Amino acid sequence: MKKLVAITGASSGIGAATAQKFSAAGHPLLLIARRVEKMEALRLPNCLCKKVDVTNKNELYKALEEGEALYGPIDCLVNNAGVMLLGDSSTQEVDEWEQMIDINIKGLLYGIKYVVKGMKERNTGTIFNIGSTAGRKTSKTRMVYGGTKFAVHAISEILREELASSNVRSTIIAPGIVETELLSHTTDTTIKTNYQNNKERIGLEELLHSEDIANMMLFAYEQPQRVCIREILLAPTKQEL
Ligand code: NDP
Repeated sequence: MKKLVAITGASSGIGAATAQKFSAAGHPLLLIARRVEKMEALRLPNCLCKKVDVTNKNELYKALEEGEALYGPIDCLVNNAGVMLLGDSSTQEVDEWEQMIDINIKGLLYGIKYVVKGMKERNTGTIFNIGSTAGRKTSKTRMVYGGTKFAVHAISEILREELASSNVRSTIIAPGIVETELLSHTTDTTIKTNYQNNKERIGLEELLHSEDIANMMLFAYEQPQRVCIREILLAPTKQEL
């Protein structure tokens, strides 16, 4: 059997597409998110689905341990779980800022913390951290979301430097607009409508599809271990910003 791939945020969008892609390539999977029924509905073979909130590190570590007990060490971690709560800094609730920091940064760090020691000992492994074009360019309404994604980019690159001598890869995946559920959680209706209008102006079919991101990750993962694609930044051709 091929090596175990663990994916956070696998119940929809990019995470679900990545699960399908890596499963088709023959990997056993550990899928993690809160909506376990959506992961189970993918009906993938050799796949353990765990209901986990990534902000709860003990719950996360326990699920990662269970996956390894079943399928062996995690060779690839896709740190994908995330939320985008766009807002105006003067009106957005601090609670929404905290959610983004807890899920997008702390949840990602917990995943890294769990896998990194074993990967170093085995002298192999790959960690994909899902950043964003919002982690490369600033833009209004994304003060905290963009801040978390800038943090992901910095964390991922520093991690890569630290792991290089151990033959472990850390790769930033930075997508532009992908048509997923991501926008649906934004509570500011004006900002949400403006963002949706921008998506429709580009054309929903012209946006990135989740499969496009999954394809990039499988491509990067299947390179020989001596090749580390440090960052993949991709966006819809018609996306201007
Ligand atoms: P979706 O909303 O479709 O997926 C988000 C996933 O994260 C879901 O599976 C959700 O599962 C999971 N998740 C959210 N909070 C938690 C939590 N506390 N614990 C566990 N899982 C959680 O959006 P995308 O697929 O678009 O987003 C995936 C990643 O891609 C995110 O990091 C996002 O920032 C990034 N991204 C997306 C872009 C886009 O335009 N769509 C562009 C650039 C980056 P559940 O709710 O079941 O727990």
